[in-house]
Amino acid sequence: MNLLDEQILVTGGSGFIGTNLLARLTAQNIEALAPSHGQYDLTSQYDVRRMFIEARPTVVFHLAGLVGGIGANMKRPAEFHYQNLVMGAHVMHAAWASGVKKLVTLIGGCSYPADAESPISEACLLRGYPQTESAPYSLAKAMSVVQAQAYRKQYSFNAIVLVPGNVYGPHDNFDLGSGHVVPVLVRRFVEARLTDANTVTVWGTGRPIRDFVYVEDVCDAILVAAEMYDDPTPVNISSGVPTSIYELAEAISGVTKFTGRIIWDQMKPDGQAVKILDVRRQEKVLGHVCGTQLVVGLEKTVAWYRRNAI
Ligand code: GDP
Repeated sequence: MNLLDEQILVTGGSGFIGTNLLARLTAQNIEALAPSHGQYDLTSQYDVRRMFIEARPTVVFHLAGLVGGIGANMKRPAEFHYQNLVMGAHVMHAAWASGVKKLVTLIGGCSYPADAESPISEACLLRGYPQTESAPYSLAKAMSVVQAQAYRKQYSFNAIVLVPGNVYGPHDNFDLGSGHVVPVLVRRFVEARLTDANTVTVWGTGRPIRDFVYVEDVCDAILVAAEMYDDPTPVNISSGVPTSIYELAEAISGVTKFTGRIIWDQMKPDGQAVKILDVRRQEKVLGHVCGTQLVVGLEKTVAWYRRNAI
């Protein structure tokens, strides 16, 4: 499939990955429609149908979702579950019903079972209950895998599911309460420098290990998958490189030139101990490597945050 020939619709186009994907598409002269939340409420089946009738897409990137870090997931589990479940179900159903050629949808690495051994391969999906702090969200998203496989089997509908690791980069959610660890720490360290604070507090023990991946690498993988991957098996999209939260905090401290002390708030949750994705399938079926070094991605993210948010 050549995306230049398709009518593309991006849901969640004003979100983190959506904004970056639209920039990537524009850079390749590929046009895309990205309706706002105000135009269509994707939790409403009526609005979703109306969106497909009005936009008439042939390819859909479903990136809309209610997302947040561990704190937000623990505070609002019902909203995170309901909205993601319903949006995913409506969008895939309407895409099939309106004759869309291909739907690309994303779920989080947190959808894997809490006890899945890292590096986590795609075969582990739905083999166990995810980390409890974010399970209502993670399982709602994981239903896309079931729905995609069911619609492929019964209707030959071409939906593919991609599973990114811990994505970070420009346009992320830098809100201290609801953001993921990278944007929250970027903000805390940048603000500490601005206010000459000599301490920065980070949640947990610093021991958890994550697989951080730069958003532009993820967007490139999404576009490659849209053009050439047509298989029911989900594909992990990540760097596959393990980094502890301690190393991450040290790296952000270095990039922001913070010289004070890091305080570890062990009253706050660590979440899953280790979460690294197995990226062999990504490399094999997409021929793609998410190769941006963490420190390079962090430098770009800090520079963007300083330019845009202060
Ligand atoms: P997830 O645990 O992979 O779903 O993603 P998060 O980005 O929410 O958290 C990753 C790790 O960073 C966890 O071990 C958190 O305890 C740790 N962490 C440290 N400080 C923060 C913070 O201020 N916000 C968040 N969200 N996580 C933090």
